[in-house]
Amino acid sequence: MGLQERWDSTKLDIANICSDCGRDPEEVRIIAVSKTVDPPVIAEALACGMRDFGENRDKPFNEKRSAYPDANWHFIGHLQSNKAKQVVGRAHLIHSLDRPSLLLAIEKEAAKLDIIQDVLVEVSVSGEESKAGIAPDELDAFLEQVCMCAHVHCKGLMTMAPQGDLSVAQNTFEGLRNLANIMGKTYGERDNICMSELSMGMSEDYRVAIEEGATMVRIGRRIFSDNFKA
Ligand SMILES: *Cc1c(COP(=O)(O)O)cnc(C)c1O
Repeated sequence: MGLQERWDSTKLDIANICSDCGRDPEEVRIIAVSKTVDPPVIAEALACGMRDFGENRDKPFNEKRSAYPDANWHFIGHLQSNKAKQVVGRAHLIHSLDRPSLLLAIEKEAAKLDIIQDVLVEVSVSGEESKAGIAPDELDAFLEQVCMCAHVHCKGLMTMAPQGDLSVAQNTFEGLRNLANIMGKTYGERDNICMSELSMGMSEDYRVAIEEGATMVRIGRRIFSDNFKA
């Protein structure tokens, strides 16, 4: 299978999952995670119909974004605070706001540019030490801090599930949706916070993520690798 076939089959699979669980496929945005491919592949991906790309390191993010500025470039990886200026104002959405120091760095850069940067707060739902993100019981206090940052707009939450066990992944995604519902009640009226986006699900677990309400799935290998077994 080539890139076009893998993209078409991914879209078709997602349309089928949506119809199985009574959702509109338009509600689920596919972020093509292009971190493993070289810039020329992006031209091919654009020709296939992809529009949203995810990168997890600032250098390739900028390299590909400046070559293909018309696509939507999502930043999905760990971001060092001193690299915030490489990403703020350039990312369509930063999915990985995971700590107070990064919040302040993003606010500072966005204020300098006089723009509003859209972000998602990454939550460590599973509570695994190894997973980046705000702990569920610290999310409320963290969002209070986001409220004070006038140049940051929080659109929702992001998480990564432990790999290998779909029932654990499902619990993780259900947990993120529940947190968004609770926080949506607290912050729904505030100007710079809404809880409309849930970025969750990757190549191996996007089905359960969509069933649990994902509005963005971040898919890499299933689209870009010719040896991924779905
Ligand atoms: C690499 C990556 C993905 C995509 O993973 P696949 O298993 O290749 O689909 C999604 N989200 C993040 C944060 C990643 O780093």
